[in-house]
Amino acid sequence: MLIAGNWKMNMGYQQALSFLLEFNKLVKKEDKDSFIFFPPAPLSLIFEKEKFYWGSQNIYQKIKGALTGENSVQLFKEMGATFCLLGHSERRYIFGETDVDIEKKFSLVQEQALIPVLCIGESLSERFQKNKVLIKKLSWIKQYNKYEKLPFHPEKLPPDFKDLSFIVAYEPLWSIGTGEIPSVSELEDVISLIKEDFPTVKVFYGGSVSLENALSLSCDKLDGFLIGSESVNPHSFYGIYKQIKSC
Ligand code: PEP
Repeated sequence: MLIAGNWKMNMGYQQALSFLLEFNKLVKKEDKDSFIFFPPAPLSLIFEKEKFYWGSQNIYQKIKGALTGENSVQLFKEMGATFCLLGHSERRYIFGETDVDIEKKFSLVQEQALIPVLCIGESLSERFQKNKVLIKKLSWIKQYNKYEKLPFHPEKLPPDFKDLSFIVAYEPLWSIGTGEIPSVSELEDVISLIKEDFPTVKVFYGGSVSLENALSLSCDKLDGFLIGSESVNPHSFYGIYKQIKSC
């Protein structure tokens, strides 16, 4: 299992340095491969010198250009990123990102040899027809996913993650930041649904994962967690990992 932390816009520079100082005291060297960080773009520089996997929270859908304020996937790659979050619900619903935008970004990320972590999820009103919603959010991938497995630098990935070309993060909107979580059987059904079409894909769960519920959400079929609020506290973030590791 990988534990990914999405720091969103909730981390400052000094705060990130203190986080890593504390976190490095908690994590054993051999366990560093179990974490992925998604820092705000300017904090990428800090991760250049760290042994953790990391990725960007977003990219622009072109490599280069007169695009003030945007960031290129090529820049993140040059700085050592391995992953790129795509289609997070905050990007979709606050910034109006569409599936078409996400498709373009998905292809660019793969072409630049980074792993897309594609977020999909249903709203509360869609919860009882979520299969339909999720299938629609995944349908275009068949056309845009150029690779069955990674054709690039797999030595930068944990051994279990070599035979994949993207990761899906299942993040129900009704769960993000609300304290509400799905039942394990709901989660297992979604994972089976995704793996039916994409057998080599890894599936993460994200939405209100905490020290209190991480253990109850862990199931054999799940490959990782994507954690928001609890990932900015080194003790909570590490505590979640420790609980999962011990089960
Ligand atoms: C997220 O936004 O990716 C997320 C999982 O947030 P939280 O853990 O705070 O619900």
